[in-house]
Amino acid sequence: MNEPVVAADPAVLAGLDNYLSLPAAQQPSWPDAAAVAEVRAELATLPPLVFAGEVDILRSRLADAASGKAFLLQGGDCAETFVDATADRIRNRVKTLLQMAVVLTYGASMPVIKMGRMAGQFAKPRSSDFETRGDVTLPAFRGDIINGYDFTSEARVPDPKRMVKAYNTSASTLNLIRAFTQGGFADLRSVHEWNRGFANNPANERYLSLAQEIDRAIKFMAACGADFNELRTTEFYVSHEGLLMDYERPLTRIDSRTGNPYMTSGHFIWIGERTRQMDHAHVDYLSRVRNPIGVKLGPTTQVEDVIELIERLDPNREPGRLTFITRMGAGKIRDELPKLVEAVRDSEANPLWITDPMHGNGITTKNGYKSRRFDDVMDEVSGFFEVHKAAGTYPGGVHVELTGDDVAECLGGSEMIDEASLEERYESVCDPRLNHMQSLELAFLVAEQLAKR
Ligand code: PEP
Ligand code: MN
Repeated sequence: MNEPVVAADPAVLAGLDNYLSLPAAQQPSWPDAAAVAEVRAELATLPPLVFAGEVDILRSRLADAASGKAFLLQGGDCAETFVDATADRIRNRVKTLLQMAVVLTYGASMPVIKMGRMAGQFAKPRSSDFETRGDVTLPAFRGDIINGYDFTSEARVPDPKRMVKAYNTSASTLNLIRAFTQGGFADLRSVHEWNRGFANNPANERYLSLAQEIDRAIKFMAACGADFNELRTTEFYVSHEGLLMDYERPLTRIDSRTGNPYMTSGHFIWIGERTRQMDHAHVDYLSRVRNPIGVKLGPTTQVEDVIELIERLDPNREPGRLTFITRMGAGKIRDELPKLVEAVRDSEANPLWITDPMHGNGITTKNGYKSRRFDDVMDEVSGFFEVHKAAGTYPGGVHVELTGDDVAECLGGSEMIDEASLEERYESVCDPRLNHMQSLELAFLVAEQLAKR
């Protein structure tokens, strides 16, 4: 079958390179420009990781969330690493997200859009270009796509070949995700096994009746012989911060159906708090692609910034196009978020609002770990729901850093993780993540909030 091929408008193609004339924060200083050009040329020949048609479906799902008819669950590592892209670890993360989604679907009585911070979350913005340990100072670790985590001068040299490895690791991760979510692993009737360990913990008594209700609902469906496809497979999208321009540009492709550019490194791409300057490269670049995109908004965000971001990134007010990911901090969200949501509501834009209750709640423990208190995370989520309720807007989703493994990185939760546990089970190479149990607990809290929304 020969479908008509629509070529890109030359002005659109030229526009994609406009970012080259703008300042771009948080880019590596590659030591060898010729080697970067070579890798970019190679990446440009490799197949897309995601397809334009999938990206379009996601945009319509996010439009539902923005109008209160669906809820977005986005989660995964702060920084994915090459060594941890194993079958077991990927399965655990997908499983955790699917289990959380079951709880949320029940609480919200509406579809939950499942999205991993997965299959591409390899580049990290850093608050300092350098890291000092003792009397040694080296370039900071910027994510496996750029340099190595080991604290040696060799490891910390940016190596463009890592971009090819990141592409290949994303491809194998995505392949496994597609197999898990299309091949029966996502079956609701087995995913609900979550119940066992979680509900038996006395600290979770508060959630017992909700857990039992979900269990009964699933058993009821099974007893009725419900066997529709939706129970067995699920849509699952991948997302990452669109940070590293030398990777994103060659993976941006022209959709032959429409002639429009799509970033094919992931379905949903967001701009971080540190790279959302209005006249810089990232905002310009993402304004030119068709993917649904996100922007992180921290506690210093002004109303004018938000209105201008809407003008730049979603001038046509297209449903599902733009998501604001607020990360204010538990102590600030009730003061800082209302003015933003009210102004956007009154401007008649309708972006999707989701909460990232992780990045505004960082602490350093007495024994020197980067951590977050589970109670602060929960409190920011509650604040997010309160603010949207008062403004009459939709609290449309959550964005969390989590792992399916039994790590100890965030303090508290029903297993009462304390500072001493961090010394034993801290694995993150970047920010602290919720572990499996803490993730479920968060899902129950959000489900409670959604039920009374
Ligand atoms: C992140 O999501 O890991 C991150 C760095 O977030 P932010 O841009 O909100 O600081
Ligand atoms: Mn992070």
